[in-house]
Formats: sequence, structure tokens, C-alpha cells
Amino acid sequence: RDAEQQEIDDLEVRCAAFVPPKDYARFEHLPLCSKTAQGLKKAAYIDMTDIQAKSLPLSLKGKDVLGAARTGSGKTLAFLIPILERLYRAKWGAADGLGALIISPTRELAMQIFDVLRKMGSFHSFSAGLLIGGKDLKQEQDRLARMNIVVATPGRLLQHMDQTIGFDCSNVQCLVLDEADRLLDMGFANTLNAIVENLPKQRQTLLFSATQTKKVKDLARLSLKEPEYVAVREAD
Ligand code: ADP
Ligand code: MG
Repeated sequence: RDAEQQEIDDLEVRCAAFVPPKDYARFEHLPLCSKTAQGLKKAAYIDMTDIQAKSLPLSLKGKDVLGAARTGSGKTLAFLIPILERLYRAKWGAADGLGALIISPTRELAMQIFDVLRKMGSFHSFSAGLLIGGKDLKQEQDRLARMNIVVATPGRLLQHMDQTIGFDCSNVQCLVLDEADRLLDMGFANTLNAIVENLPKQRQTLLFSATQTKKVKDLARLSLKEPEYVAVREAD
């Protein structure tokens, strides 16, 4: 127990003071807890991609981040790592309920995120679940009460916010809007605004998008606080 608190105190200090070292390129250069570091190693993630290397020092400090990078550039780990670190440092447990919410445009993408989380998050003890529709609503409702991290599609998530008694979002520490441009192209702007209104204002928000459109900027203005902009050029 004391060793865990010591690690957490140490991480807080190292994240706040983090300056990338000269040879900065690998996950092991980041101030990460041993459970996350082990999970990355087990999943064979060693070198960071550009968007990971640029955004993680900011997101690990707790800042809101608006990240733009093309498909396939590694955005999933750029938001899963800060979620795990934040909940770990908060000693998040079963009784704390929902701590992180990841919104993805499609069921398929949500399932992919969930699979990555299961693989690289396996040393952590958080419970995670999918809210993607197509499954029995009652079954999702029963499990929802025990979830610390949820990966959801917007329509289904809002449905639970409206209909699931006891679904409590008031503790959410971290919101991720993944593939924001696609979410908006699919017509989810109003749904997303309604979801964000149900969340506590004191939270970290990470927004990732392949492109930076006017609509994405509007969504960012409504959901992020003093965001850091991180963009990786097309040619990278
Ligand atoms: P995006 O969300 O930006 O489209 P993904 O997060 O889905 O990208 O990652 C694309 C692919 O790159 C996946 O197969 C993933 O496993 C792989 N990948 C991501 N980050 C790394 C990394 N640091 N090292 C090696 N492979 C990685
Ligand atoms: Mg992605």
C-alpha cells in the first residue's frame, strides 16, 4: 500500500516536471506506472508514434488535448494511456463507478478500442465495458453499474443516460472524443452536446480527429478547456 502511494506521489511530480530527454522516442521515457509500462511491453509497444510522443507529455499532466493525426497514426494509445494513469493515480476502485468515457463513432471502432484496452491494460484492475447497442439493453444496464471505463457509441450512451436508472456520470474524470470529424459527419453533434452536458465540468477531455474542420473546432470549443493543440503533418 505504501509502495503504491509512493509510486503515485513520484509519478505526479515527474509528470508535472516532465521534459522530454534528448533521445526521447520510447514509452519507457515517460513517467508511467509499472502496471501500464508492463502492459505496453506485453503488447509489444516499445517505440512511440509521433502523435503519442507529442501528446502524452501534455495529457499525462492532465491537460485537455486536441489531437489531429491521420488514421493509423496510433491515436488509441494516445488516449488509453492517460486514462489508465489518471485512474491509477486517483486509486480508482469498484466503489468509485464510472471514471472514464470514450466515445467512438461506430461499433466496430469501439470494439477495436476495447480490445487494445484489454490487452495493454491487463495489469490494471479496472473494469471496462462496451455500450454499443445491438445487444440486450437490460444486459448492458446490469453491467453498467460496475464499469470504471466505458467505450461507447453516442446514441447508445445517451440512451443509457436517459433511461438507465442509477447510471451515474457525476464522477467521470476523463472524456475522450475519438474520430471527432467522423462523429460530426455522422450527425452526432447534438447527441454529443447532450452527453457533455451530463458530465462534470471538472474533468480532462481529449479530442482526437483525423482532420481539423470547422465543426471539429466548434465541438472543441464546447467540450475542451484551454486545450493544447497537437498536430502531426500528413507527410509524417
Ligand atoms: P488511429 O486511431 O490513429 O487510426 P490506431 O491507434 O488504431 O491508429 O493504431 C494503428 C495501428 O498502429 C494499430 O495496429 C496499432 O496496434 C499500431 N500501433 C499504435 N501505436 C503503436 C506503437 N507505439 N508501436 C507499434 N505499433 C503501434
Ligand atoms: Mg482510431
